[in-house]
Formats: sequence, structure tokens, C-alpha cells
Amino acid sequence: MSASSPPSQSAEDYLERIHELIEEKGYARVIDIASSLKVKQGSVTSMVQKLGELGYLNYEKYRGLMLTEKGRAVACRIQKRHETLSRFFSLFELDAGTQQHDIEGIEHHLSPATVAILSDLATFFEKNPGTLRKFLSSRKGPNSEADGQQ
Ligand code: ZN
Repeated sequence: MSASSPPSQSAEDYLERIHELIEEKGYARVIDIASSLKVKQGSVTSMVQKLGELGYLNYEKYRGLMLTEKGRAVACRIQKRHETLSRFFSLFELDAGTQQHDIEGIEHHLSPATVAILSDLATFFEKNPGTLRKFLSSRKGPNSEADGQQ
């Protein structure tokens, strides 16, 4: 293992969300992080503290939480992976809510090799729309496996 181990899965969730909030609003407040990750504010505070100690972010008076260079690099990598998964899942006519929910559920568990395969598969289908259509029409419906489950 390398000396600087990657952030844990839940740390990735936080970095991803903090990065998104800063991009959207210009700042990331504990209360917004808590509500968007559906966790208690106390959990956010302790994770933020830990991420600060690890050098991913710091707290600046007036500006609030800011990602460091290192934190931004990790957040950008996470965001890119999320976009790759979005590109892949959006090929299959799933609704946006399901896509978002499922990507959030799996993204931190995938190895780079798996993400690379999904990325290549997305590119393959994008370049071969006829093959994608053939696949989609081979299924019974847009949610053939999920039919009757909800
Ligand atoms: Zn994500």
C-alpha cells in the first residue's frame, strides 16, 4: 500500500458533496452538508475535522469550509467518476432519480478498472447506437427485471 492511503468511502461522499456545494453556492455549510447527505450535523462536524487533519480541507473565517489543493484533486477525481457512471447509466432509459440514487450507492465501491470498463462500454454504445437499440429492444421493457418489485 502507498504511504498516503486514499480517503475512505464515506470521506469520499463528504468531499464530493462539499465540492458540489461550493461549486453551486460558493460555500459549504455544515447544515447543508448534513441535509444533503442525510446525516446528523454532529457527524458532519467530526468528519470535517478529520478531513481537515488529513489535509483535504480547512476552515477559513468568513469563507467557511474550503477544499485544499489536495482535497480539490480528490473531489475532481470523484466527480469525474460520477460523470462516467452517469454517462453509462443514462444510455439505458433509467429515470434521473434512479440513476442518481444508484450511482451514489455504488460509486465509492468501484475499482478504477471497473470504472474504466463502464466508460469504454459507454463509448462503445455511443459509437454504435444501432447495437444499443438492439440491446434495449431485446429487453421486455425499460425495467424488465424490476417489473413488479415496486
Ligand atoms: Zn456521486
